[in-house]
Amino acid sequence: MSETVDLKAKLGLDVFKPVGKPHIKIRQGMEKDSRLKSTVRICPAGLYSENENGEVALATVDGCLECGACRLACGIDVIDWNYPEGGTGVQFRFG
Ligand code: SF4
Repeated sequence: MSETVDLKAKLGLDVFKPVGKPHIKIRQGMEKDSRLKSTVRICPAGLYSENENGEVALATVDGCLECGACRLACGIDVIDWNYPEGGTGVQFRFG
């Protein structure tokens, strides 16, 4: 009989190889764009945060799951989104 594993436990099995240059950036001047606010809720890795001035920041891309949800929610005019360089980023290990 197989054991049920919850999402946090599955994500904890993933390996992240450090990304030299951030592969995702909020475009300059777009920090207060209303479309960014959704990223605080939808990013499964919790990488976006909003400060008291309503500005959204992406402090790090370490832990990014490369799901693309932030890109879909905001569009490429708000977020500059690319995959990380080969050999870096997430390696999924939950299979
Ligand atoms: Fe978060 Fe996914 Fe965007 Fe990475 S690609 S920052 S995990 S929403």
